[in-house]
Amino acid sequence: MARVEYTLRSSSPLALGLGSGEVADSHIVHGQLVARPTVHSFFCPECGLLWFQASSPGAYHAVLSRRCAAHGNGTIWIDWNNDHNRSLPLRALRYEFERLVALTNSGTQSALSW
Ligand SMILES: [Zn+2]
Repeated sequence: MARVEYTLRSSSPLALGLGSGEVADSHIVHGQLVARPTVHSFFCPECGLLWFQASSPGAYHAVLSRRCAAHGNGTIWIDWNNDHNRSLPLRALRYEFERLVALTNSGTQSALSW
């Protein structure tokens, strides 16, 4: 297992540490074994902010295009990646829960769409 640190950023200069988790040392991508941990960060195509950052020495760092909370739903869950979801620490899960509640209460956007 590889240790991964998660950080949440917004347009303010402050960054919020979400804690750390662990991702598998290897995984399958399109039927191929990748013998290296992979961590995912999110880049907002609207404001250009790397708003959700995963950091893990020695890991492959993948960046996905996903709108931040100011320009989209700002969720950090990846439906197709259980390794990522299982690695999220409690503070990250609390953030995700609060986003889903806010989206559900707003009624303006589906909580499950990106
Ligand atoms: Zn944005």
